Amino acid sequence: MNKRICIVGAGAAGLHLGLYLQQHNVDVTLYSDRRPEDYRTARLLNTVAHHSVTIAREADLNVNKWPVNENGYYGHYYYVGTPTPLRFYGDLATPSRAVDYRLYLPELMTSFAERGGLIVHEQISADDLETLSEQYDLLVVCTGKGGFGSLFEARESATPFKTPQRALCVGLFKGIKEAPIRSVTMSFSPGAGEMIEIPTLSFDGMCTALVLENHFGGDLEILSKTKYDNDPRAFLDLLLEKLYKHHPSVAERIDPEKFDLAHDANDILQGAVPPIFREGSAQLSNGKTVIGLGDVMATVDPLLGQGANMASHAARVLGEEIVATNVFDERFVEHLESRREDRVLCATRWTNYMLKNLKELPPEFQQFIGTLSQSREMADEFTNNFNYPEKQWDYFSSPDRLAEWCKRFAGPQAA
Ligand SMILES: Cc1cc2nc3c(=O)[nH]c(=O)nc-3n(C[C@H](O)[C@H](O)[C@H](O)COP(=O)(O)OP(=O)(O)OC[C@H]3O[C@@H](n4cnc5c(N)ncnc54)[C@H](O)[C@@H]3O)c2cc1C
Repeated sequence: MNKRICIVGAGAAGLHLGLYLQQHNVDVTLYSDRRPEDYRTARLLNTVAHHSVTIAREADLNVNKWPVNENGYYGHYYYVGTPTPLRFYGDLATPSRAVDYRLYLPELMTSFAERGGLIVHEQISADDLETLSEQYDLLVVCTGKGGFGSLFEARESATPFKTPQRALCVGLFKGIKEAPIRSVTMSFSPGAGEMIEIPTLSFDGMCTALVLENHFGGDLEILSKTKYDNDPRAFLDLLLEKLYKHHPSVAERIDPEKFDLAHDANDILQGAVPPIFREGSAQLSNGKTVIGLGDVMATVDPLLGQGANMASHAARVLGEEIVATNVFDERFVEHLESRREDRVLCATRWTNYMLKNLKELPPEFQQFIGTLSQSREMADEFTNNFNYPEKQWDYFSSPDRLAEWCKRFAGPQAA
């Protein structure tokens, strides 16, 4: 049987799945409301770092067009703004890499089309989904955090928050010198927020993404509301003032004369992400099964850079399961969930845990930060586990597990 698969949404999830199915000669059609040429003038979509597990999948799909030796980064610097600030570093075993999705997504769309793939450029409505489900053997919906999520039931046990947890101010900037090793910097300002600095490839070459994860009600929240467009100089001055105060390990590398958005006024994104975990499949009213993928299934705050990485993982598992069968029934869904859910669920739980604990700083978490700052071996493991959120969750899922992990690295070597 020549099975026919329909994917609605051509973000990272849809494209990684589409390219995989295409590579395995499955008849697949992508539906997207965006064309490759729409991205060049679009507002910043996000600031996505791909970890090496995702880059390896891109290499399999023959779309790894941004070699890590040119565009990648090698580890994480950590800065904790306690009364005596903590500074430490952890290595990634293999580099990660961040490419502006306004470059990345059109490049993957073009590859898919050049290899003979069909992309229908159309905004799909909820009513269209039933029609599509009749026309194809399987319908996959990956329209991102805004679209069609409500088709899938929220799983309360994995959705601890009813509202967004951080007021985001995210931008691509120039005028920030790279750290001694090209790396992400994760900076924590207790009571005010976190910031992730990511070396990123965008339209004019390498620049710096700053992801300010501001606590609601804190000193930094104003950055999520102050508009660059209204008065660019006033915005930049305010941002510089807050960076010197809260995130000095990044601020000390800024040349104030050159500091500005990297390319143009579209390089900034402000708002908030409501985290939610949903069941990965649903029944349409015509009885057909629809599969949810990517942000449709699990939307996480960008604090730990997990959303697209887990979407890519889930797309690969779904692709393998589709290739392996012609029968898309309940058992198919069971096979799929038994393989994709652990990573997606653990990335969700770990992100939600960090959102809560970086704000509340309970004693066991303070002990963890203290131990991490003293042990390079532990910092390497913590950093590399950004690739493997299920391993990370093995450590964070209970205070006892966290204490056990810390015990391994405490003692003479940590003194
Ligand atoms: C500021 C920020 C920073 C981030 N940083 C990271 C990071 O470092 N690492 C990481 O892994 N993740 C990160 N993420 C998360 C990541 O961006 C998302 O998890 C990922 O892009 C989700 O991919 P997706 O394919 O599910 O959805 P999307 O990328 O949203 O794609 C959905 C696609 O569907 C299309 N579409 C929507 N509705 C329709 C419709 N009705 N008809 C047809 N097409 C439609 C859209 O145009 C879009 O192309 C970050 C997110 C933000 C906001």
